[in-house]
Formats: sequence, C-alpha cells, structure tokens
Amino acid sequence: MLREKLLELEKSASLLEPDAESRSDARARVIEYSEDFLDNVASLKAYVVSDDKGLNLFNSPISEQGIDIDEAISLIKQNVDTPGLNPASGGHLAYIPGGGIYYAALGDYLADIFNRYAGVFYASPGAVRLENMLIRWMCDTVGYGPQSHGNLTTSGSLANMIAIVVARDGKNIKSADIPRSVIYLSKQTHHSIHKAINVAGLAECVVRHVALDDKYKMRADDLAAQIEADKAAGLNPFLVVASAGTTDVGAIDPLVEIGEIAAAHGLWYHIDAAYGGFFILTDEGRDKLRGLNLADSLIIDPHKGLFLPYGLGVVLVKNVGHLKRAFSFQASYMQDAFAAPDELSPAELSPELTKHFRGLRLWLPLKLHGLAPFRACLEEKLLLAKYFHAEVQKLGFESKIEPELSVVTYKYVPRNGDANEFNKKLLEAVVADGRIFISSTMLDGEFTLRFACLAFRTHLKTVDTLLEVLRSNVADACEKARM
Ligand SMILES: *Cc1c(COP(=O)(O)O)cnc(C)c1O
Repeated sequence: MLREKLLELEKSASLLEPDAESRSDARARVIEYSEDFLDNVASLKAYVVSDDKGLNLFNSPISEQGIDIDEAISLIKQNVDTPGLNPASGGHLAYIPGGGIYYAALGDYLADIFNRYAGVFYASPGAVRLENMLIRWMCDTVGYGPQSHGNLTTSGSLANMIAIVVARDGKNIKSADIPRSVIYLSKQTHHSIHKAINVAGLAECVVRHVALDDKYKMRADDLAAQIEADKAAGLNPFLVVASAGTTDVGAIDPLVEIGEIAAAHGLWYHIDAAYGGFFILTDEGRDKLRGLNLADSLIIDPHKGLFLPYGLGVVLVKNVGHLKRAFSFQASYMQDAFAAPDELSPAELSPELTKHFRGLRLWLPLKLHGLAPFRACLEEKLLLAKYFHAEVQKLGFESKIEPELSVVTYKYVPRNGDANEFNKKLLEAVVADGRIFISSTMLDGEFTLRFACLAFRTHLKTVDTLLEVLRSNVADACEKARM
C-alpha cells in the first residue's frame, strides 16, 4: 500500500523535473522573449503609463494545474514588463538608474541551476571564496587594508542596515546609553539610513542634522562644533554618516575632513557610497572620492554603479572583527560547518544563513568583460552630466550647481506664473512622452528637475533626445501661456 502510494506520488512530483525536451522548449521561449526585448530596447519607452497597472495578473490565480510557457510569458509581458518604469532603458534618467548587463543574467542562471550553498564555506568553499574574492577586490579598490571584509547584500538599504548595527556594537551602545548617544547626518542623507537607525533599535538616539553648504555638502566646521557642544553637554556622540554621492544632487560630503573629525572625537565613521562609490574606477572619481578609506564602514551598490540587475548591494567594514561581533552566532546543529574555516563565511558576517549565490552575477560580467568597459561607461556618465549641464542652460534652464558626479539639478524659470507649477507640468509632459523618464526633488522649497545618469545604455543620443523633449515642451508651455 505504502509503496504504491509512494510510486503514485513520485509520478506526480516528477513533473518538477522536466525532461530535456521540455527544458529546451521552455528555454527557447524564454530566450526568444528576452532576445526580442533586447533587440528592441533602444526604441522601447522608458516609462509606460497604463490604466490597469498589471491588474490582470489577478485573473490568473495560482491553482492546481499549471499553464504553458507561452501563456506565462504573455502574462508577464502584458502585466509586468510593460506598465511603469523600464529600468533596462537608456532613457531611464530618474532616481538613481541601474541597468541590467546581460552576463549578470547568465551568472544568475548558473547560480540557480547549480544552487551552490554560498552561506557557509564548508558547504561550498568555491562559492564562498568567489564572493570573498569580490569583496577583497572592492576593499582594495576603496583603499581598505587586509583587516577589512564585507558582505554581498541584496541592496544598499540592507547594506546600510548591517553597517548601522555594526556601528552600534562597535561603539558598544547599550539600551541604557541610547537616549544620550548622538548620531550626525544631514538633510541629504538617504532615508535608508533612518530606516536602519530604526531597525537597529537606535530610534531614540539624538539625531543631529549637520548644516549644508550651498552645494548641499555637509559642513565639516558645523559637524565639529556640534560634536564639541554635545560632548560639553555630557552627551555621547558615537556615529557620523557621510554621503559619497547624495541621491538628490550627487554631492560628495568632505570625506577627508569628516574622517579627521570622527577620528579626533572617537566616532564611528560610516560613508554611504551606494550611488557614487564605483566612480572611484575613473580618474576623476578617484580624486573626488579621496577619504573613502577613512570610513569604519561603507556601502556601495553594484546594481547602480556596476550596472547589474537589481539585487546586489555591498557593505564593507574596515575591521572584520566588528562584523563578526555583530553577526557571528553558532548553532549546535551546524557544529561541522564552522569547524575549520579557511575563509570566513557570509553566514558569520551577515544576518543571513541560507542565501542566494549572488556573487556569481557580479563575477561573471567582471571576468568576461574585464574592467576597462566599466571604467569607460562610468567616465562617459560623468561627461554626459557635464554635457547636459552646459546644454540645458543654453535652452534657458537654470542649473546652478556644477555636477560633481552624474546628477544634474535644473529648473525652468518662466517669465510669469508659478515656477514650481511650471516645472511640475513639464515633468509630467516628459514622462507622458515616455521616451525619457526623469524625476524631481524639492530643493529649498523649489520644485527641481533631476538628470540622473547611470544606466549603461544611456549615451549621447539619449541625452540629445531629452534636450529635444525639454525644448519642445517648454516651447509648447510658453506658447500656451503666451509668454
Ligand atoms: C540607492 C541609494 C541607497 C539605497 O540603496 P538600495 O539599493 O536602493 O536599497 C542608499 N543610499 C544612497 C545614497 C542611494 O543612492
């Protein structure tokens, strides 16, 4: 009876192992679909405004019987890959773009087929060595020494979370210390830091906003003054967070000065280089990012600056002991696994145990392409920002701040009428056109347009298209207002 039942279940369960022909058929459809996308990506819209916003997915609920691959692809195409932002488009010039270089997808494919257990060295020494080698390369790149280490996370936000926990434990902040412990950041600090502070149980710390200069960079003199005042008042300043490329305007805080102040006063120094960090691979970036190596911890996002598909952030910590202190825990059922480590495992250095072997999606493109095209692509982005900054002013836009990296802020000041309203309408018109996707921010209460150039498919032609879309929309708007 039991044997019969088992054989019956085996038959049904073995549908989970499609044969070579079924695999080949499904794979061919997936490749056909993705190749069609890649062949046409240059002419696809960067943003698609839709009414249903993928709602039809709910008409095909999860059920006992499967559907065929064509039907599945058609559901994905209509509901997922069409409405909203197309991040694979070079026309994505909003927020902080990423990209999705092809060989990363092949890396993910292999990682998923082989399913190596990348959390623990004992289980997959090669997978752990591969990830550690990438971390070592990034540590070397930012100028960290041999005591440094890090972790490949799913995103910059998670990397910040790890760093803030490490800072908390590194400075030995216990519950009773929290109300008198002080964190310094700026109004331009990414909101994921605030999330991290909350998750790390530090929400009741004193949080000080350091004053900004006219380029939205942290003022080191104000930082020093606030720390001194807080110390004099009996508080416990323990953490300063600087940005190496703010999301809003692409500003780099004075990294060296902040590092000196942090060292002099014994603060943990964290740098958020999620957006700007990989510009260190260019000559101009290396110069501008001097001081990264002074940080006790920093984060950097390959799914931004190395153009990977979403799902890869990195935290680096100058002294690996701090990472271990926060995240190294043992379980008796894992006594064999941590017995004799040649390499530290991600499971000892992060909140994760079982994890995606996400290193392969970074290693494969870096190995197949080599670094040269990455450097070129990053330098191109810096120069495109300079080009846009110059050209948009020729169209009559105001763009006061010289771009430090690849973000340019600009706005049109109409002769009469409300400037905020004008720029808001202009943004809506550009988004509705769809060829280029841009975003906005509020700077000193003024609605400001942002040019954020980091998608690897963004080239001179893309920027010329944006300039043309802006020119014709401004002309239309002025015509309508008879200005
Ligand atoms: C994008 C970004 C983050 C958050 O990273 P995610 O990968 O989106 O989670 C943090 N800080 C800065 C400066 C960023 O630009």
